[in-house]
Amino acid sequence: MSSQYVYFFGAGHTEGDGKMKELLGGKGAGLAEMARIGVPVPPGFTITTEVCRLYLRGQSYPDGLREQVAAAIERLEAATAKTFGGGEQPLLVSVRSGAKFSMPGMMDTILNLGLNDTTVQALAAASGNERFAWDSYRRFVQMYGDVVLSVPGARFEELIEARKHDRGVKEDTDLSADDLRELTGAFKDVVREHTGDEFPADPQDQLWGAIQAVFRSWDTPRAKAYRKVNGIPDDLGTAVNVCSMVFGNMGDDSATGVCFTRDPSTGEREFYGEFLVNAQGEDVVAGIRDPLPIARMCEVMPEAYGELLDAQAKLESHFRDAQDLEFTVERGHLYMLQTRTAKRTGRAAVRMAVEMVDEGMISIDEAVLRVAPAQLDQLLHPTIDPAAEVRVLTTALPASPGAVSGKVVFNPDVAAEQGLHEEVILVRRETSPEDFHGMVVAQGILTARGGMTSHAAVVARGMGKCCVAGAGDIEMDEARGRFTVGGVTVHEGEWITLDGSTGRVILGQVPTVEAELSDNFRRLMEWADQFRTLKVRTNADTPHDSQVARKFGAEGIGLCRTEHMFFEGDRIDAVREMILAGNPTGRAVAEAKLLPMQREDFEGIFRAMDGLPVTIRLLDPPLHEFLPHGDSEIKHLARKTGIPAAVLRTRVDAHHEANPMLGHRGCRLGITYPDITWMQAQAIFEAAVNVAREGVTVCPEIMVPLVSTRAELTQQRHIIDQVAEEVFDHAGLSVSYMVGTMIELPRAALTADEIARDAQFFSFGTNDLTQTTFGLSRDDAGRFLPQYVEQGIIPDDPFQTLDVGGVGKLVEMASRLGRGVRADLKLGICGEHGGDPRSIEFFHATGLNYVSCSPYRVPIARLAAAHAALNDPRLKEPKMVEKPEMAAAS
Ligand code: ADP
Ligand code: MG
Ligand code: MG
Repeated sequence: MSSQYVYFFGAGHTEGDGKMKELLGGKGAGLAEMARIGVPVPPGFTITTEVCRLYLRGQSYPDGLREQVAAAIERLEAATAKTFGGGEQPLLVSVRSGAKFSMPGMMDTILNLGLNDTTVQALAAASGNERFAWDSYRRFVQMYGDVVLSVPGARFEELIEARKHDRGVKEDTDLSADDLRELTGAFKDVVREHTGDEFPADPQDQLWGAIQAVFRSWDTPRAKAYRKVNGIPDDLGTAVNVCSMVFGNMGDDSATGVCFTRDPSTGEREFYGEFLVNAQGEDVVAGIRDPLPIARMCEVMPEAYGELLDAQAKLESHFRDAQDLEFTVERGHLYMLQTRTAKRTGRAAVRMAVEMVDEGMISIDEAVLRVAPAQLDQLLHPTIDPAAEVRVLTTALPASPGAVSGKVVFNPDVAAEQGLHEEVILVRRETSPEDFHGMVVAQGILTARGGMTSHAAVVARGMGKCCVAGAGDIEMDEARGRFTVGGVTVHEGEWITLDGSTGRVILGQVPTVEAELSDNFRRLMEWADQFRTLKVRTNADTPHDSQVARKFGAEGIGLCRTEHMFFEGDRIDAVREMILAGNPTGRAVAEAKLLPMQREDFEGIFRAMDGLPVTIRLLDPPLHEFLPHGDSEIKHLARKTGIPAAVLRTRVDAHHEANPMLGHRGCRLGITYPDITWMQAQAIFEAAVNVAREGVTVCPEIMVPLVSTRAELTQQRHIIDQVAEEVFDHAGLSVSYMVGTMIELPRAALTADEIARDAQFFSFGTNDLTQTTFGLSRDDAGRFLPQYVEQGIIPDDPFQTLDVGGVGKLVEMASRLGRGVRADLKLGICGEHGGDPRSIEFFHATGLNYVSCSPYRVPIARLAAAHAALNDPRLKEPKMVEKPEMAAAS
C-alpha cells in the first residue's frame, strides 16, 4: 500500500508518468506524461484512485492526505507565482475527475475554483479585464452549484437566458461585466435558496467540497450505467486532478478547443477538430456556440496554431496511436489540458490500424489488436440505398456512421422505455450525460446543436451508434411534441431516417443496401486470419445468406436450420399437411411435396458453399410452431388438403403442449416420426449427389438435435446411414458425409463419452444449453434477467455472453469426454455466443475447432478469434502487445 496519495506534475517536478493509469487515472497519467516529455501543460497534481477507494469504503480520507494536498498547493503557488485564496495574483484551479478508463462526461469538472468576492477583484485587476473576471466567477458558481451542491443546472441557464433576452443579445459573450456580476449574485441567491446555506467563500472549503464531489460521482447512477455498458469494473475508483487554470476566455487572443490527431470518423490522417475564440472549457463540447473548424485557427492565431500542430504530432508519435486532445490558448500561449487515445468509429479504427502499419508506426499484430471486434459491426451494416427516393429534411454533421430508421422521441426517459420494443430516434437540442439511458436503446441520435465533438457525437461514436449532430435548421418544439425543419413539421412518433455517414436527416423509413468492404478492411482481416486457430462458420438457412457469409469469410455452415425453409411461400401448407395428416400414408403424401423443395434448397446452399462443410440440422422446433392459427388459416388448409376443418382443428389442439421448449421437439420428432428424418436425409443426400455431379465439392454434416441419450442418436443415425446407402446406390455415386449431434442438454454433456461413440462431431447449441442449464426460458427471462445483471447477481446476460462458470464447464467437460473416446471428434458451437467476442475467447481456450455465427458477425468472429490467439497465455512467446490505452511512455 502506497502512502503517496498526491502526485505533482509540471514545472520540472513531475512525479507520475503515462503508465500509471491505475493509480492516476487516464487523465492524470496523460497530464504527467505530457509534462514529462515537454508538452506545455498548466502545472497541477493528481490525487490517486487509491484515495477514492479508501474514501468510498469508509467515507473518510486516509491520514496524511490533507498535508500532502496542502504541500502540493504550496508547490503550485510557487510554480505559478500565484496565491490560492488571496493575494494580487489569485491562483485558480480546476478540479477534474479521471478514472483509468475514460468516461466522457460521466463526472463533472469544476473550473475557476478559488474565486470569491475578494479574489474576483484581484483577478479583474491582475488581468485588466473585469468582464473576464466576472465571467469566470459566474461560471464557477454555476458549475459548483450544479455539480457539488446539486442545484438543478437549469435554474442558472434560465437566468442567463433571461438576461440575454433583456439585453437583446444572442451569445453569452455579448453580456457585459455588469451583467455577469449581477448574474453571479443571482446565482448565489439560487444556491442559498436551494441549499439553505451561503455559497462557500473559503477556497479551502471549495477545494475539499469539489474533491469529495468527484469521489462521490464515481457511484452516481449515470456513472454506473456507463461502466456497465462499457464493461468497466466498479471497483477502480477515480483520481482527482487539481490543475492550475489557464484561461481561454481572456479575449480574442484566447481560445479553447478539442482536436484529434486523425479524423475519428473516417480515420483519415488529417488533423481534425474544433475551437472557440474567447471561451472556456466545456463551451465547445456543450454546443453553446457553434465552434470553428480547427484549420481556421491558423488565420486567427497563427503562432498558437503552429505550436498546436507540433504538440499533436509529438503526442501521436509518442503514444503511437491517434490522440484526442484538449487545449486552451491564453493570450496567445498554448496549453494542452488532456491527451488520450482517441475513440473512433469502426471504419476509422480499421483505417488507422492499417495506415499506421504502412507508416511503420505499429506492427501487424498490434494493428489486429487495435480494432475491437465489436467495432466492425458498424462497417458491415447496410447503408442507405442510393437508388431510394429520399426526402431530405436537412443535412447536418455526420457524427457517427450507420443508417437507421426509427420513430421520433424527444424525451430520453420515453426513449429508454419505448426503445425496448420498437425502433426510436432520440431527437434532442443537445445531449448531456443525463440522457445516456435513452441514447443506449435508441437506434440513432439527432441533435439540433453541437459539433462533431459534442457530447452526443462522442458518446454515439463510442457506442457505435448512428448520430447526426448540430442540425441547426431544426426548430425544436418538444412541449408540443414536434420539430420543424424546412417547412416540414415532424411529430413525435413519426418515422425518420438518419444517415450518419453523410449527415442527412430523411423523412420516413428508407431502404438500405449492403456495405461496401474497403481494401483496408480486407487487409486487416487477412492479417487477423494469419493469427487465429479457430475456424469461423456461419449460421445460414438460404443460399443468399450463405453467399453473404462467404463474402464475409465464412469457412462453412455451422448451422443450417431446415425448418426455416418451411416458411417460404406456400410451403407451409405442405408442412402443415405433413403434421396434421394423422397417419403415415397421409404424411407420405405431404412429405413427397416437401422433398423436392428441401432438395432444391440444399442444392443451392451446397453450390454456394462449394468445397466447404455444411452442417444441416434435422427438424428441431416443436411442431405447433408450424400449425395454422386462426379459423381462416384452418379453413384454407382444409380446402387445400381435403381434410375437414373440424378434424383439423381437433388435431391442432392435440398438438398443444404445456411446455413446448422441453416438449415434443428435436430428435424426439424424428423418433416418433421416423419418416420425417427419412425425408430430410433423402433430400440432403440427393442434393449432394446432384451437385457433386456438377463438379461441386460437397461435405454434408448431418446433425441430430436435442439428444440426451446415446440411444436416440444411434437410432437416428441408423436411419440416416440407411438413406445414404440407398441414395448412393441408386445414383451410382457416393459422397462422404458425417453424422453428429448437438450438445444442448446437460445430460448430453454429462454423457458425452457415450454419445461420442455414435457422433463424428459435436456442435454445442449454447442457446438451449444455457436455457436448460439455468432452467431458464429465454423468452421469459426478460422480466427478471435485466435486474439480475443490474444487481450483479450474474455478471452478464448469459444468452449474450457465455456463462463460463456453468455452461462453459459443461462445454469443456463434454469436449474432454468426447475427445477421450474419439480423438478426432470435431467440435463447434452454433449458439448466439458464436459471434460474441468474449465467448469466442473461451471457445478458443477450450480447443473447439470452429465457431458459427450469423453472416454479419463472421468478420467480428474472425477478428475475435485472432485476438484470442494473440492474447493466448499458453503461447510460449506471448504475442500480447501493449493495448492502445497502455501504449503510454514507451
Ligand atoms: P472531461 O473529462 O469531461 O473532458 P475535463 O476535466 O477534461 O473533463 O475538463 C472539462 C473542460 O474543462 C475541458 O474542456 C478542459 O479542457 C477544461 N479544463 C479543465 N481543466 C482546465 C484548466 N486547468 N484550465 C482551463 N481549462 C480547463
Ligand atoms: Mg476532458
Ligand atoms: Mg436447440
